[in-house]
Amino acid sequence: MQSFLAFYAFALGAVVGSFLNVVIHRYPREESIVFPSSHCPHCNAPIRWYDNVPLLSWLVLRGRCRACRGPIAVRYPLVELANGLFYLALYFHTGPTVGFLPLAASWACSIRASCWPILLSTRSSAP
Ligand SMILES: [Zn+2]
Repeated sequence: MQSFLAFYAFALGAVVGSFLNVVIHRYPREESIVFPSSHCPHCNAPIRWYDNVPLLSWLVLRGRCRACRGPIAVRYPLVELANGLFYLALYFHTGPTVGFLPLAASWACSIRASCWPILLSTRSSAP
């Protein structure tokens, strides 16, 4: 049961990390974080749900858009991985308690605020 919950903490962190990638890219540009849905910045093809699975899709597609084969920056899976690992560490620190949730939420807010100037400076492909 412990490892099952730990996996879910990691998966939740990776999903939140995926959303953080969208926020980090779009919010400073004053773009909606909801619409349009994730799309390729090279060919504007919508990213299908099975190509939008944190970490796995980037690996399966080898960092390229399925439609046009344009590059997808490695920073996207790295943010997902880092957030997943941090959520996993939070889970091991708090255990399966309600205390996990506010810590995870405050981390997500702080990483968004602190990372966008750095990530903006790279100006690479985005979801
Ligand atoms: Zn494309």
